[in-house]
Amino acid sequence: MKIGVLALQGCVEPHRKHIEALGAELVEVRRAEDFKNISGLILPGGESTTMLKLIEHFQIWDVLKEYAEKIPYWGICAGSILMALRVTNPKQKSLGLMHLDVERNSYGRQVDSFEEKIDSYPVSFIRAPLLKKLGKACQVKASTKGNPVWVTEGKHMVTTFHPELSLKTPSPFHKYFAEKIS
Ligand code: GLN
Repeated sequence: MKIGVLALQGCVEPHRKHIEALGAELVEVRRAEDFKNISGLILPGGESTTMLKLIEHFQIWDVLKEYAEKIPYWGICAGSILMALRVTNPKQKSLGLMHLDVERNSYGRQVDSFEEKIDSYPVSFIRAPLLKKLGKACQVKASTKGNPVWVTEGKHMVTTFHPELSLKTPSPFHKYFAEKIS
């Protein structure tokens, strides 16, 4: 199984050990032709504004929308911001792949980042966004401090935390995503 990771900017490489622990292969996705052989795509954490600029640069906005109809996507933090229907704080363009709004940087600044256990697995929240106005088809899989932090809708999912930075492989979230793919 080949799992793509959108490799424009941000937290790409830490996914490798989790993907390989599942017996799958990580494919770095930058250009339209990279989408051809993957069966799922991770939109990683990083800086969504920078990613938007690079999506423009590589001209992959349309192909990102097109493949979302065909294969599961997992948006992590900045990736969840790219996948949202609407983005606030401030407003910015998004792919609109899940029926939810995202408010950026809602937990404060970099220094306010924190670690938490989700399903007894340690994960990091790094300048995480808040997920809001979830549509009827959204399913909340986990919440922290009363806010949804892991949400699925059909074949897609978002987490506002980073499980790839934890050392125990594979993370339960990579495992869950791989099961969604196969
Ligand atoms: N604050 C970043 C953004 O708005 C997201 C941070 C992250 O991905 N860890 O894009």
